Amino acid sequence: MESILKTGLAAMEIPAEARQIDLLARYGRTVLERNQVMNLTAVREPEAFARRNILDSAALLRCFEPGAGTLIDVGTGAGFPGMVLKILRPDLRLTLLDATGKKVAFLRETAAALGLHDVRCVQGRGEELGRDPAFREQFDFAAARAVAAMALLAELTLPFLRVGGQLLAMKAEDCEAETAAALPLLRKLGGEPLPAFTYTLPEDDAVRRVIRAEKRAPTPALYPRTWAKMKKEAQG
Ligand code: SAH
Repeated sequence: MESILKTGLAAMEIPAEARQIDLLARYGRTVLERNQVMNLTAVREPEAFARRNILDSAALLRCFEPGAGTLIDVGTGAGFPGMVLKILRPDLRLTLLDATGKKVAFLRETAAALGLHDVRCVQGRGEELGRDPAFREQFDFAAARAVAAMALLAELTLPFLRVGGQLLAMKAEDCEAETAAALPLLRKLGGEPLPAFTYTLPEDDAVRRVIRAEKRAPTPALYPRTWAKMKKEAQG
């Protein structure tokens, strides 16, 4: 796994020290090991896993620089992209959010085992925490990967951002229709689209996109609504 990570990061021009590559590989092995007893990733083969989960999460650093900012990863699952970003940018103040308690317990345990600081692991639903003053309008960045269609995702993430903060939604190539459909809601939530970032991974032809938006105005108190209401509207 180390050599794929090292070559891949170099090919993407993402600087990483030997210690960080070692941490990424340890993290990857921990996820694959635990995957045998709980459902964390569909990609079980180590090389494909390293590319499609770890390198793909790292690729986010090609379109934004977190610095010492705060980032919430909504629906992080086994920690993608948040945990990878934290290993590569140790100054990042990271919150990992997932609805599933078992996954959050795994994240907490793994962050401690890897010696990562400033990683807060929270179990909860984005549409509920987005109404909690301790989380609402608190973050510089909100990231999400493989969680929901863009309209749902916008409502799950925008409430967490402070005005001036940025949404980074990791999507497959064919996300243009869902992104266009989500635009009116994105604007109601206080967001304004930024140009999408399109990329491929080393030795992989699949085109991927990061749909980006900036928060320009506070999210109206009406949002986020309940999951049932969000889904109903998304289905038209
Ligand atoms: N981002 C990870 C996991 C994707 S699977 C990756 O790219 O591999 C989607 C995850 O989102 C699941 O772990 C699920 O528990 C979580 N999730 C789905 N809806 C959610 C919600 N409304 N609030 C919080 N987490 C949610």
